[in-house]
Amino acid sequence: METSITINRTVLTVVRGDITTIAADVIVNAANTSLLGGGGVDGAIHRAGGPEILDACRRIRAKQGGCPVGEAVITTAGKLPASYVVHTVGPVWNGGDQDEEELLRDCYRSSLALAIQHGANSIAFPNISTGIYQFPKALAAEIALEAVAEYLCELPDETHAPKRILFVCHDAENEQIYRERLGDCL
Ligand code: ADP
Repeated sequence: METSITINRTVLTVVRGDITTIAADVIVNAANTSLLGGGGVDGAIHRAGGPEILDACRRIRAKQGGCPVGEAVITTAGKLPASYVVHTVGPVWNGGDQDEEELLRDCYRSSLALAIQHGANSIAFPNISTGIYQFPKALAAEIALEAVAEYLCELPDETHAPKRILFVCHDAENEQIYRERLGDCL
């Protein structure tokens, strides 16, 4: 089952699944500042994509020393069906008064900017920060959808716009939250 809405020139869709199986131009990874891999979706992407992705992350790390929270870097997708992986670093939830909301918004914005720079027509996001980093899921979904919608609305007419953005939910709770939130926009 799919829930979709159209914003400006882009269709936003919620799906349930494993992001490593999605053949989008860009899949987004919820990485950590080291860029050296971790658990959750990060571990799944590196396992399924093979060592090429980690090699590319190591090269970026050697150049710029990892990736700050809220920012993003782009690499090959190795053996994955996607073309690129954008690695963004979500904030760890620390009660909400450490700029967590703004930093999560920045993750979506910086990932979109990089993906669009690389001409992506389809982009798949996981539910950044809602696993090991413990960001409250409903708030994270609200921020994700708002940040993406705002970004798309602000795109100048002459800028390439992605045709499709997928929100890939791995767990039932996120799936339900996203479907309700997106449904409210219909
Ligand atoms: P973070 O450290 O940013 O919280 P996690 O990987 O722990 O990152 O969790 C982020 C989200 O990714 C969680 O909602 C988790 O359920 C989800 N997730 C875990 N594995 C996958 C996967 N293979 N595909 C898509 N989402 C996944």
